[in-house]
Amino acid sequence: MLIEARHYRNGQAIRAEILNGRITKILPLSASQVVLPFLAPAFFDIQINGANGKSFNSSSLTVSDVHEIVAVCQTHGIGRLLPTLVTNSFEAIEHGLATIARTIREDGQLATAIPGIHVEGPYLSAEDGPRGAHPREHIRTPDTTEFKRWQKAAEGRIRMMTIAPEVEGGIEFISWLTKQEVVVAIGHTNANQEEIAKAVQAGAKTSTHLGNGIGATLPRHQNPIWEQLAKDELMCSVIPDGFHLTPAVLKSIIRVKGLAKMITTCDASSLAGVAPGIYEEWNSQIEVSSNGKVTLKDTPYLAGSGVFTNACIPVLMQQGELNLADAITTATVNPARLMNLPEHHLMIGREGIWMLFDPVEGAAELIAS
Ligand SMILES: [Zn+2]
Repeated sequence: MLIEARHYRNGQAIRAEILNGRITKILPLSASQVVLPFLAPAFFDIQINGANGKSFNSSSLTVSDVHEIVAVCQTHGIGRLLPTLVTNSFEAIEHGLATIARTIREDGQLATAIPGIHVEGPYLSAEDGPRGAHPREHIRTPDTTEFKRWQKAAEGRIRMMTIAPEVEGGIEFISWLTKQEVVVAIGHTNANQEEIAKAVQAGAKTSTHLGNGIGATLPRHQNPIWEQLAKDELMCSVIPDGFHLTPAVLKSIIRVKGLAKMITTCDASSLAGVAPGIYEEWNSQIEVSSNGKVTLKDTPYLAGSGVFTNACIPVLMQQGELNLADAITTATVNPARLMNLPEHHLMIGREGIWMLFDPVEGAAELIAS
């Protein structure tokens, strides 16, 4: 397949030949021949809860729901994603894992789009604030037996887990998970300096949506944001949707962590992609605004994310003061590196999943090659 576009790294107008995902030729064109869009690696989002009214966390999740969520994500340029299951009963999480695993078993092609599953919880802080929207009645302490049963239901596909290191047995569990080759993320936490340090020593690799899933008011110096920011060993995911962080916080996190450690996730909820309106979801009335903001009705409180990874790139460029290439890197190459999966670089001879991206509109489209 021949694609005329601009190279996302340098803006050069090019004609690229792609055969079965492999870049076989890149030829320069005169700049006037191509204005938009940009050719880039497809997004890899490590935290997708659902889309279009369908949730991976639904107790009635079906194989066709999994296909539908992946297909919706693909229309936003997301070529790879980690379905994310949040705090719930043992059985509910087991059902989600087993359904996703079965979907991939029955359609081997999906193994590329879903290279793993992220379990966010249930071993999180029980405190209001850091707990976020995770239901208190299902928050508990780490249990290797429970995890082994989940991993069995998932047919070994749990590749990432977000936990709060301060919970009882948390540090030992991080060591154990790391030995199981599960990527451990710190999140929904009120851990102190020592607990963050021990979590990193035990193998924690990243922070989950830093700046969210945390108390609304914090001690000015002794708090988990500074402690995680200062740990050079930790990568860091953020939700740059324009609502979850202020511009100053987003820019500061990026500057402190450095580009190579930044990961963009949209953390799409089941209401991502639905029409604006009032929805009955998670036992609450939820308002979806036309700009993609999702709030508890008649309150300023966010109730998850309503946009996909593609909509985060213009925000990162503007508020995070990143150029296009660097903004896309946080949503493609960096998550792949965290997960120890192939990085897709737009160079001759490289294989990958590719997209066309328009940073003005934020529109993205996967290339079927
Ligand atoms: Zn979360």
